[in-house]
Parts: sequence; C-alpha cells; structure tokens
Amino acid sequence: MSELHKFLFEGLPVRGLLVRLTGDWREVLQRRKTVQDEFPKPVRALMGEMAAAGVLMQSNIKFNGSLIIQIFGDGPVKLAVAEVQPDLAFRVTAKVVGEMPERAQLDTLLNVHGKGRCAITLDPKDRFPGQQPYQGVVALHGDQREPLHHLSEVLEHYMLQSEQLDTKLILAANDDIAAGLLIQRLPVEGAGNLGRKNEDEIGINEAYNRIAHLTATLTSEELLTLDADTVLRRLYWEEKVIRYEPVAPHFACTCSRERVGNMLKGLGREEIDGIVVEQGRVEIACDFCGVKYHFDPVDVGELFTPNERQAPGSATLN
Ligand SMILES: [Zn+2]
Repeated sequence: MSELHKFLFEGLPVRGLLVRLTGDWREVLQRRKTVQDEFPKPVRALMGEMAAAGVLMQSNIKFNGSLIIQIFGDGPVKLAVAEVQPDLAFRVTAKVVGEMPERAQLDTLLNVHGKGRCAITLDPKDRFPGQQPYQGVVALHGDQREPLHHLSEVLEHYMLQSEQLDTKLILAANDDIAAGLLIQRLPVEGAGNLGRKNEDEIGINEAYNRIAHLTATLTSEELLTLDADTVLRRLYWEEKVIRYEPVAPHFACTCSRERVGNMLKGLGREEIDGIVVEQGRVEIACDFCGVKYHFDPVDVGELFTPNERQAPGSATLN
C-alpha cells in the first residue's frame, strides 16, 4: 500500500515528509498500457516524480482544493501534469510529441530551447464564480540560466520563491515505485524580522543546514529500495525524530461523462457532427485513467439540445 509519513525534529523548526507510491503508481502505468502505448521510460520516471512531489506538496500545505503541477515543455514532452486532491488522491499524465534518448533528463525532455515552464496551481474547492486559482510559475533553469536536470531542483526553487521556505527535496521513480523525501525549514516566529542575527537564529540555521545536508546524502537507489523506517533511521539516527501515523495516498481520477460532454460541447456542434459522420460515434479516452467515454449520434444530439426532455417553454410553466 502507498504511504505518506510525516515527521518533525524535536525542538528544531524543521519538518519532513516521506512518500512511497507503490501499487497505486503501478496501476497508473498499467491503465495506460491497456489503452495506449506505454510512455517512454524517462517520461514514466518524470511522471512518477511529479506524482510523489504533488503528494508531498499537497500534504505539506494542507490546501482545501486541488494542487496541480504542470510542466509545459518545448522538447519531446509537450506537457506533463500531476494533480493531487486534499485526501491525497492523485492522478498523472503526459503528452509526448517526439522521440527522446533512453536516458533523457528534465532538460532534454522539456527544456530543449530554454522555454520550458513549471506551473503550480492551487485550485480551491469552493471557488466562487469568477475567482481565479492561485498560480506560481518557475522556469526550468537556474538563476544563472544553467540547465536543471532534475524536477526536485525546479520545485525547491518554486518553494523558496513562493513560500520563502528553504526546502530540500529528493525524488525518484521507476516502474514499481514513485518516492520522495521533503525537508522544510519552518518559519520561526519573530525571527528574520529583527534586522539582526541573534545566536538562536544562527543555531536554527545550523540545525536546518545539518538536516538538509544529511537529506542530500540519500541516493535515488536508497529512496526506491529502502522502507520508510530504514530511510529515516539511516539518515537521522543522531536526531530526535517525532513520527506521525502514516496516511495512504491513492490513485483516483476525477473524470466523468458529464465533464467529457462539456468538453465536447466546447468544441462545437460542427466539429462533433463531423466526427460522428466519419466514425459513427465519438470515443474519448481519459488521459489520466484510460476510461473510455462513447457518445453515439443520439447522445450527441442530446448534448447540443439543452433540456431536451422538456417541452419548449415548459421552464416558464408553474
Ligand atoms: Zn479519468
């Protein structure tokens, strides 16, 4: 079962999260394989890292709405999306448009011409009409325009920029598991606004730096193969770690026939009728879960005829 572990360092303003997506992650890949060609290996790894990162970030901010990580690429991957709900239900997909080397990394997948972007969107659950979701965008290169090879570096940059919080993030994924470890410095009340560095603050920085340094020694291989207890013990055996009861992230898709219908309506009657004439019906497979939605000519007629079952003018009766 997939697991998310939360922990704190006793007496230190540092918190941590460790995620391991296992059966749920394999289900994502399996579903894809049953409807379409599977994603190339580097894209599967990227999607796994995005799913793990999304779960870590959603759990870290406890946001009542969807957290969406979108990477818009200018290379063989045009788009990669991971979406995580407050109950840690996640889904992830990508749009691949070209060939890529077997060992492609973030920059060779998505930032070939330096135009790749990563957008983090927080879409509140009870958004009132007209309210925009919050969105932060970061480039896929560093401050000196140096190429970033890993998603973790892009997201660390985003968190520093948007929350002003130092974050250390380790991500890794293969076809069996998608995993991540996040360590974040907690904001300290009063500190930072005093205009001077007192000894406490220096001590706090040292504590965070020490833990971030320990965290950085974790290899992808270790993150993918060791269970959560072993990872935390190995890295932080000299620290006092307070653990919380793990929770279970899971795969779930929010697609529905109604949403697909609305999307078809958005394309317009002419376009849809064209498809019906050509193929007899419209078939749409959800990019996230692979579920297929069929609309035959009668369904299409209903789509474009509002309140079809009501006689004309009946809405004004009573
Ligand atoms: Zn779906």
